[in-house]
Amino acid sequence: MKARSIRFRLTMWYAMLLAAVIALAGGATYLGLEHYLEKSLDESLTTEARTIAQSLLINIRQSGNEYVVNEINEHFAPEINGRFVRVTRGDGRIVFVSGMPQDKSFDPASLRPVGAAAREHSEEVDVGDDRELLLHVLPYTNRDGDQFLVEVGAPYWQIEKVLHGLLLAFGLGLPLALAGVAGGGYLLMRGALRPVDEITRTAQRISSRNLAERLPVAETGDELERLAVALNGMIARLEEAFLQLHRFSADASHELRTPLTILHGELESMAQRDDLPAAVREGLGSTLEETERLSRIVENLLTISRLEAGEARVERTLLNLSEITRSTAEQMRLLAEEKNIALSFSASDPVLVEGDPSRLKQVIVNLLDNAIKYTPNGGSVEIATRNVNGFASLEVRDTGLGIAPSDLPHIFERFYRADKARSRELGGSGLGLSIVKSIVVAHGGEVTVSSDGTTGAQFTVTLPSAYSPKD
Ligand code: ADP
Repeated sequence: MKARSIRFRLTMWYAMLLAAVIALAGGATYLGLEHYLEKSLDESLTTEARTIAQSLLINIRQSGNEYVVNEINEHFAPEINGRFVRVTRGDGRIVFVSGMPQDKSFDPASLRPVGAAAREHSEEVDVGDDRELLLHVLPYTNRDGDQFLVEVGAPYWQIEKVLHGLLLAFGLGLPLALAGVAGGGYLLMRGALRPVDEITRTAQRISSRNLAERLPVAETGDELERLAVALNGMIARLEEAFLQLHRFSADASHELRTPLTILHGELESMAQRDDLPAAVREGLGSTLEETERLSRIVENLLTISRLEAGEARVERTLLNLSEITRSTAEQMRLLAEEKNIALSFSASDPVLVEGDPSRLKQVIVNLLDNAIKYTPNGGSVEIATRNVNGFASLEVRDTGLGIAPSDLPHIFERFYRADKARSRELGGSGLGLSIVKSIVVAHGGEVTVSSDGTTGAQFTVTLPSAYSPKD
C-alpha cells in the first residue's frame, strides 16, 4: 500500500472525514441524551415531591405522621427504588426519611438538611465515592399553615452509566466502522483506479520507436476514458510528427545521393588525367576520400531514416542466424588477419529467426567491424550464436579498448563516437551502431552492450526465436 498513491490518500481522507462526522454526531447524541435523561429524572423527582406534598402533607393534622410515613413507603418505596425521600417540618423535625437503599449505593444519613428558607429547586448533591444524587427540594405550606420541606433524590450515576455505555459503544464502534470503511474504500478505489495502472504500464513502454502503440481505453465514459483518449490523440500527433521527421531525413539523404555520385564520378575521371601537377593530384585524392566518406554517411542515414520511418520493408523469411553469422565471419576473416586478430565463431544449435537476411548480415558486419576496428593488433574477437530462454542471441566479444561507463548509454545514438579522433581515423562516422539498433528493433529485438571500460566490450543482440520446442 503506497502512502503517496491516490487510492491511499483518498481512502485516508474519506476515513478521516467519516471519523470527524461520526465524532460530531456522537458528541451531539451524548450531549442530547445527557440533557434528556437529566430533564426526565428531574421531572419525575418534581412530580414525586409535589405528589407527596399535595396529597399527603395537605391534611397531616387529620391523618397524622404515621399515615404519611406508611403512604410514602407504600406508594414510593424509596429503599426498593434506590431513591431518597425526606420530609422535614419548618422547625427541623423530621416527618419521614427513607432508609438505606437496597443496593446500599448511598447513605441517606449523610445528606445534610437544606435550610428551611430554600425555594423550589433541583441540585446535585455529593454523597461520597465521587457519586452524586440529583435532589429536588420543595418548600411546602399546607392549608393549616404548617411548613414542610420535601426532598426527593435519585442517583445521578445511573444517567452516567447510560452515558458511559454510549461512550463505550462509540469508542468500540468507531474504530471498527473506520477499519471497515477504510478497507472497503481502498478496495473500491483500487478497482476504480485499475485502468490508471494499465495506462501507466503501457505509457512506460511507449517510446519514439513504438509510437504506433496506443493506451488501453476502458469504455466507461468517465474521466479515465477521456484521459486515455486524449493521451492517445497526443501520441498519434507525436507519431505523425516523428514520421514527418524521419521522412524528411530519408528524403534529404536520398536527394544528396545523386549529386554525391556525380561529384564522385567527376572527381575520379579528373584524377585519371596524366597532366595533373602532383599537388593537385594529392588534393584530388583526399577530396575523393572525403566524398566517399560523405557517401557512406548519406547511405547510412538513408538506411536509418527508412527503417525508422517504417518505409524500408523488413522481409520476414525463416533463416538460421548461425549460418549467416558463420559465413559473414568467414568473409571478414581477412580484415582480422590483417591486424593479427584471432577471430573465432561458435554456434551450439541451429538458431532460427524470422527476418531479413541482408539486414541481419549488416548487423553482424557492423558489430564485427567495430570489434576488429577497436581491438589492437594481436587481440581476439569471438562471435557466438545460441538459443537462450526462447530467444535467439548473437554475441560479439572483443579484447579491445572497451567503452568507458560514461559513453555506454550513448553509443547507439547517431553520430556518437566515444573517441572522435580515433573513430574518424578508422573511417567511422558514428552511425554503425545506430543502424544495428534500428535493424534489431525493426525485427522486434534488442541490442545491449557491456564493458568495464578497459578489457574489451561485449555486444548482445536478442531476437525473437522462430524455433518452437515442438519442432
Ligand atoms: P563508428 O563509425 O565511430 O565506429 P559506431 O556507431 O559503430 O560508430 O560506434 C559508436 C562508438 O562506439 C564508436 O565511435 C566507438 O567509440 C564505440 N565502439 C563501438 N564498438 C566498439 C567496440 N567494440 N569497442 C570499443 N568501442 C566501441
